[in-house]
Amino acid sequence: MDTSIKDFTSKLPQLPTSIFTKMTQLAKQYDAINISQGFPNFEPDPVLLELVSKALKSGHNQYAPMGGIYCLREIISEKIKNLYGKSYDPSSEITITVGATQAIYTAISAFVWPGDEVVVLKPAYDCYEPSIMANGGKPILVQMTGKDYKIDWEEFKNHINDKTRMVIINTPHNPSGKVFSKEDMVQLQNCLKNTNVILLSDEVYEHIVFDGFAHESVSKYPDLASRSFVCASFGKTFHATGWKMGYCAAPFELMKEFLKIHEFNVFCVNHPFQKALATYLKTPEHYLSLGGFYQEKRDLLLNALGNSRFRFTPSNGTYFQLLDYSAISEESDTSFAERLVKEHHLACIPISVFNKDQIDHKQIRVCFAKTEETLLRASEILCIM
Ligand code: PMP
Ligand code: GLN
Repeated sequence: MDTSIKDFTSKLPQLPTSIFTKMTQLAKQYDAINISQGFPNFEPDPVLLELVSKALKSGHNQYAPMGGIYCLREIISEKIKNLYGKSYDPSSEITITVGATQAIYTAISAFVWPGDEVVVLKPAYDCYEPSIMANGGKPILVQMTGKDYKIDWEEFKNHINDKTRMVIINTPHNPSGKVFSKEDMVQLQNCLKNTNVILLSDEVYEHIVFDGFAHESVSKYPDLASRSFVCASFGKTFHATGWKMGYCAAPFELMKEFLKIHEFNVFCVNHPFQKALATYLKTPEHYLSLGGFYQEKRDLLLNALGNSRFRFTPSNGTYFQLLDYSAISEESDTSFAERLVKEHHLACIPISVFNKDQIDHKQIRVCFAKTEETLLRASEILCIM
């Protein structure tokens, strides 16, 4: 007899399987090259692996302090100060988290009350809306315009009202590869002026910017920083997405509330990895070289696609590239992506799943955090489409 409990109301009744899980499963099923989900198919720096191994063997295997070990928070604080000119107190304004995902969820959970509105720019990475809804909030979706995803700041501003508790931005932007400009940040600042709105800035790709673009962290803008959580991911920066290590920075008053949720949700984060990262971060080259490293990969891919029928504008940041297939097919992007994996053994991500009302611009997203061999094999397939 089935005795499982069925009399409850799901908090997230409409939630589909994530597109990353779906495409990665299809990639396995069809023995396909997987350039869908964003993760490197190469190993982190052996120096970092050695530091982790050392930390594991030298007695750092019990609970870390709740917000993270001091030396890691201190070196993060120095890094932010050097790069963006903003001082965060390591002991009260920086928290080590289980990847950026936990930082994002915790910030939302600490501040969003049932009925509150949270403005999200679409297309958006998939974790924002479920986190808002699980806390009773209402996502207010503002679509970036056109195939090149410009932000209409006037429209954005029109969605901010007395019910708006928070807005979420992401730069460099997944999936578009767009990098917010100074002008964007000034516009955002104007939109939030004289409001009590909290800004959640997802900056997990902060070090992956190309062609001389600069990452515009909200921590560079005092009027924004004073109301913001800035979220970062060591998974992205050090080719170790499986470690789920990240951090966030925020002014004391905001972080104090964040920690009340963090303490009883995770309490503290993986201790030996924190130890290793604190040492590894002492060499800025380890993160400052990332833009050049990924720009080479982007260019390798785009050169190999030069004779294909895909249209593209080179990505300005992240390790994602959008490809427009409208000269190849009129299929929906989800059908195109499914055909690509089933018939051609190449997995990518259709963009409509990230858009408001699933707008379909006939674009797919490919991840170029892959070895040269994988990128060349993938582009051979794309060139026959
Ligand atoms: N934000 C964005 C935009 C991402 O692409 C990712 C990576 N999947 C995350 C947040 C989550 O980062 P993490 O793996 O550190 O939780
Ligand atoms: N951030 C990764 C991407 O955009 C996916 C992470 C996940 O699978 N949730 O592809």
